[in-house]
Amino acid sequence: MTCIFCQIIERKIPSSIVYEDDTVLAFMDIQPVNPGHVLVIPKKHAESVAELDDETMGALNVVCKKVNQALRKSDLKVEGVNHFLADGEAAGQEVFHVHFHVFPRFANDGFGLKFKEDYANLPPRSELDAAAGKIKKNC
Ligand code: 5GP
Ligand code: ZN
Repeated sequence: MTCIFCQIIERKIPSSIVYEDDTVLAFMDIQPVNPGHVLVIPKKHAESVAELDDETMGALNVVCKKVNQALRKSDLKVEGVNHFLADGEAAGQEVFHVHFHVFPRFANDGFGLKFKEDYANLPPRSELDAAAGKIKKNC
């Protein structure tokens, strides 16, 4: 078995688990953006979001919410919380077992998203409508 997260589920490699049920496992990221960085994964191996059934996707999000609240109740430094998922290599996915990142944020923590240079120029409504139309028909 080569999937590192499946090995964590099967306790073949160590991890620091914060939550577990029949469907979902949540454990500490080995390379945290900030202290308290948790990964939330389905126990059944799936590479991408498209492979998940709605029940599993729902269960993952419920656990993300639990972790968010647990972080806020902890004495870790938490001024805000990011929920982040990279779906596909171009989106930054490095481990191909679906995972949500849930991690604390605070002012000047050094983490940030990088935007393209012309990001400040808002597109015309017609462009937004055209994109909406392409997505809507597949929803
Ligand atoms: P991605 O870039 O795919 O969204 O995120 C993969 C995450 O998995 C990274 O944040 C990385 O630090 C974490 N990671 C990679 N290998 C291991 C591991 O063996 N154990 C744990 N706990 N996290 C890992
Ligand atoms: Zn896996």
